[in-house]
Amino acid sequence: MISLFWVLCGIAAAMVASQKGKNGCGWFLLGFLLGPFGLIFALISGKEAPAENERKCPYCAEFVKKEAVVCKHCGRDLPSENPIDTTSQGQPDNINEDTYTLIFKGVPRGVDDLVAHHWTRAIRFCESKKYRLASEQFRYALNALPKSSEHAKTLNSIIERIS
Ligand SMILES: [Zn+2]
Repeated sequence: MISLFWVLCGIAAAMVASQKGKNGCGWFLLGFLLGPFGLIFALISGKEAPAENERKCPYCAEFVKKEAVVCKHCGRDLPSENPIDTTSQGQPDNINEDTYTLIFKGVPRGVDDLVAHHWTRAIRFCESKKYRLASEQFRYALNALPKSSEHAKTLNSIIERIS
């Protein structure tokens, strides 16, 4: 009876430990050897590694959910996990020199007012790295253009690159 209880303590310690990102086997042995004490050790010991959906808060070093924007432990704003927001103030990886040149060549002459309006707004959004809004505006401009025009091709290629 007592040995069964010891085994259960081992299992419980292993489960607690592996939830904290630790070696479950080692903690099973510890729980098995120390019984309830092993379980208590497992419960009070800190976390070693973040779980798959966790990361470390850079301010208080506690573990928080990956998607969290505010740390639940210290309440500070967490830096975004999203590469769009972290690399050079929000430049998507696929935006290279070529794409920049393409975007900031500006609105071509001879397009009608509606196209120019949306195209201009899109460039503004690109300047402030708001690529989602930019591609929306590029799409409006595209819709106002004849499908096979040279400008439509340019816009299509820009939208593809920033989306
Ligand atoms: Zn924190």
